[in-house]
Amino acid sequence: MSGNNKYKTSQTLFERAVKVIPGGIYGSKSPGFTVPGQFPYFFTEGEGCRVKDADGNSYIDYLCGFGSMILGFGNSVVDDPAIAQIRKGDLLNCPSPVFVDLAERLCDLITGMGWSVFAKNGSDATTLGVTMARVHTGKRRILMADGAYHGSSNWCSANQFPVLDDRDYVHTFPYGDEEALKELFDIYRDEIACIILTPYHHPAYIDQVYPEKSWYPLVESLCEKEGALFIMDDIRANFRLSIKGSHNYFNAHPHLVTMGKSLANGYPIAALMGTPELKKAAGSLFITGTFWTSSVPMVAALHCLEAMEKWEVQSHMNEVGKMLKDGLKSAAEMEGFKVNLTGPDSIPFMTFPDDPDLYHNQIFSASMAKRGVYLHPHHNWFLSYAHKREDIQETIEKAAESFKELTRVN
Ligand code: PMP
Repeated sequence: MSGNNKYKTSQTLFERAVKVIPGGIYGSKSPGFTVPGQFPYFFTEGEGCRVKDADGNSYIDYLCGFGSMILGFGNSVVDDPAIAQIRKGDLLNCPSPVFVDLAERLCDLITGMGWSVFAKNGSDATTLGVTMARVHTGKRRILMADGAYHGSSNWCSANQFPVLDDRDYVHTFPYGDEEALKELFDIYRDEIACIILTPYHHPAYIDQVYPEKSWYPLVESLCEKEGALFIMDDIRANFRLSIKGSHNYFNAHPHLVTMGKSLANGYPIAALMGTPELKKAAGSLFITGTFWTSSVPMVAALHCLEAMEKWEVQSHMNEVGKMLKDGLKSAAEMEGFKVNLTGPDSIPFMTFPDDPDLYHNQIFSASMAKRGVYLHPHHNWFLSYAHKREDIQETIEKAAESFKELTRVN
């Protein structure tokens, strides 16, 4: 791995990690997912929209704990009541009253949903969702889009297990391809339990894709005809498009909705919500996990929801996100680059045309990291309520320098 003195402590920690942790750092947090040697691997602190790495370097952060920190790091409106709950007790055998408060709050808030169950990670919620769909319909096939990420469980993860049959019943289609979707519904007629979709397509590495107007009406009518459930996996876009759920933003009508990430501003909680008609089927499932009823994240979620609603965080994130997109576009143009900025303004991603290996993305983002801005080269970015216009302005100024640097290696 090429050395960079700026990240010496990160690299030393990584060398220690590989001796005792398979892969050193796994999954999407591994150095291989960014630019090895040119990015920090370990962080020690976060405040507002800034993070500090293990070497003491500070960054304006556009990953936000992979989307979780929607109000910013260390927001006292969420942290103070969460810390008070830690002192009272987090995991108290049976749930605390806040379990009921949070479910009631979410049912009032999220369009069309009449019940909620809680877990820890997004993968718990999506796996519960597809299991529920199978139980409810008595059918086993699952449809999902090529390149969509729904978590690390066996039925959908990047792992392939030749001895397990989870994947034999999962069928993929190119996102937004209406003919391909109709064909799958034809081929597997009477066997489809559910289709699971993200509100818009946000694969890693490539441009983000919005649904056409006809997409959700088609999905819904195919599901209705088949008796299949429509699951909206809102883990990633959660609360950045609409406080009422991203399906509300796109006028879609899912039977089940998964949430996580930003629900509690970084505290570990995920939720599976469903329409009132599915409550009985959900009640027939064995749903549990030792920590799934822990109360601290639920207190955090209640306060996070209140703050998001009161502060109208979506419009702020979209405003600063738009400023970032526009600023990056003009900074790129000044140096003769055309860039694609796709995705919602609050969840943007940038690519360079004719850059299939993301070579330019990597050089650009490594150069930004060197200048104190954390822009992931392969994963969509996130804005938070803590990003202010001054932070965006500073980012754009640094981007102008990084585009200039890119012309030198081009
Ligand atoms: N679904 C989507 C759309 C996601 O983006 C993610 C996480 N990136 C997951 C599910 C899985 O969530 P988790 O990592 O919390 O298990």
